[in-house]
Amino acid sequence: MTIGVGKEVLSYCSKCKLTLAHTITNMKDAKTIGKVECKTCKTTHAYKDPSKVKAKGTSKLTQQKNKTADSVSDIWMAAINNSKAKSKKYTIKQKFDLKDIIDHPTFGPGVVDRLIDNNKIQVIFRHDIKTLVHNKI
Ligand SMILES: [Zn+2]
Repeated sequence: MTIGVGKEVLSYCSKCKLTLAHTITNMKDAKTIGKVECKTCKTTHAYKDPSKVKAKGTSKLTQQKNKTADSVSDIWMAAINNSKAKSKKYTIKQKFDLKDIIDHPTFGPGVVDRLIDNNKIQVIFRHDIKTLVHNKI
């Protein structure tokens, strides 16, 4: 395989956090790649050998899993901090409104994110978003 400016090469992209196709924009010498341009985010950066990056042990799956967990608890934290409502004990007979804080026996504190219909609410808990029944007479 020949390498050179304008050729395609696989490089790790630190912006996309993935190994992606890049175009070589600069060569250090005939055999050493200097800079590459990511075809996905169009960022030009130093060539990063994907086989060396993989050695750190960050698989795509773990990264995505962590990302989801982080974002739910981030939303939860922000919602709890933004709400001035007093927490109400959760029972299916209790009626909840948007932004109410729910004190749930199993899931802990949660914030009402959406009123689905008269008897259903979407609630953000620390680790998960759940649909709960409420206002049942
Ligand atoms: Zn990129």
